[in-house]
Amino acid sequence: MRRGNEPWYEEGLRFACTQCGACCRGEGYVWVDPRRISELAEFLGLSREELGRRYLRRVNGRLALVDGPDGACVFWQHGCKVYPVRPTQCRTFPFWPEHLAAPEAWDEVAAVSPGVNRGRLYARAEIQRLLMGRGEARAKVEVKE
Ligand code: SF4
Repeated sequence: MRRGNEPWYEEGLRFACTQCGACCRGEGYVWVDPRRISELAEFLGLSREELGRRYLRRVNGRLALVDGPDGACVFWQHGCKVYPVRPTQCRTFPFWPEHLAAPEAWDEVAAVSPGVNRGRLYARAEIQRLLMGRGEARAKVEVKE
């Protein structure tokens, strides 16, 4: 039973990434934290500038990955090509504010992501840390407009 101001997920939530790609092939932007561009570039063996030219675009002042030819994330190739250094947004899925706003919202993401409600239990504190990990700053890098 829920007490006072406790979030509905106070007992924690389960999730295990199955690398199914459901969240990599949906609509929307994959935002990139500018502070992690170097890590991503190094992983791919590219300069920051080359990474920007090939894989990044600017959307409303923020950086996002470009889409691949099929509309999926450009790094989705039967698995995430950059999984060890994937963007924060990907690392924190499905613990996003819109999914945690209410149990019904969580049920909606569970309906499309087979890893939701399975696997290890994320405690409330860990979920809230993931929720806070989504802040992004602006970066100076040449990107596709
Ligand atoms: S970077 Fe990787 S985990 Fe993130 S959306 Fe693209 S393919 Fe999926």
